Amino acid sequence: MDTRTAAAIKRCIEEHSTFLITSHINPDGDAISSALILLHLLLHLGKSCRVVIDDLIPKKFDYLDGVEEIKAFESLREDEDFDCVISVDASSPDRLGRVRSCLQGERAVINIDHHASNSLYGGCNYIDAGASSTAELAYAVLSLWPVPVTPEIATIVYSGVICDTGRFLFPNTTAEALDLCSRMVEKGAAPSEIAGYLYHRNSRNTIHALAAALSTLEFFFDGSVACIHLHNMMDDDIDTEGFVDHLLSIEGTEVQIFMIERDANEYRISMRSKSNIDVNEVARHFGGGGHMRAAGCVVKGSRDTIKERLLQVLGEQICTV
Ligand code: 5GP
Ligand code: MN
Repeated sequence: MDTRTAAAIKRCIEEHSTFLITSHINPDGDAISSALILLHLLLHLGKSCRVVIDDLIPKKFDYLDGVEEIKAFESLREDEDFDCVISVDASSPDRLGRVRSCLQGERAVINIDHHASNSLYGGCNYIDAGASSTAELAYAVLSLWPVPVTPEIATIVYSGVICDTGRFLFPNTTAEALDLCSRMVEKGAAPSEIAGYLYHRNSRNTIHALAAALSTLEFFFDGSVACIHLHNMMDDDIDTEGFVDHLLSIEGTEVQIFMIERDANEYRISMRSKSNIDVNEVARHFGGGGHMRAAGCVVKGSRDTIKERLLQVLGEQICTV
């Protein structure tokens, strides 16, 4: 972190006393970990602090210390006030769902993120697109004070990094990320225990849903694009995060797509890229975003029309690289 940003964040946190921490809808491990790192920091500093995310927190994160402090948007009272909002891992205010309304008014806003497309909506913006995860940045913020790093905090930081680096497989697996995780293991994070919590507790229904999704596998553009889809499954115990990553294992594919029906005629799209094809550009075309090699969007329409439009935009990307 450059010294100016460090000084600005330090001053902003020290000057304020009541905080709201928030992150993006459809929260992933990085969003949740980043929010909890800052919660632990603010509690250590004796600040009053609430964490609100406008979505359900997947059950697999139940081992993270403080996760029960993350509340739903409905828990916010009309008269509740904060003098500072800290937003993590959210590239723009609309990613915050209904919590974006809390950014209005006189409140100070600290925006911490690693998306290159971040719209710099904070009064204080700490954006580093070269960072593996927002958790890495949140840890750098925590380290501005002499906070003891407990095994609980180390577990949270380690979890954020492994979730966003796809267990140290994606190109954002930097030396800094590995070094940070090594230090977190020294402080008490237990890699195989964390892997057990995150990856070895799938419900049977999740694996049945994965089987159903994989059975729809299709290829386009001479095999360079792989696509799977899933109908809306109303079951709460189905977790589809990571389904798209299974397609990365297919030789010769460059872009991987997972389409899941969210509502009648509405699909959430997850995309990955193994090459220079920029799926963030494709997602942005449909009002979404993300990173060059991992991006998503929500699109209305029938599955066939959405797929056709996606492939058309992807085709243009494929031609330009
Ligand atoms: P995933 O495919 O794992 O849901 O998301 C991959 C990346 O794309 C993440 O960095 C996530 O923040 C971003 N992303 C996913 N969906 C959306 C979306 O609807 N809008 C924006 N702006 N980013 C998204
Ligand atoms: Mn992230």
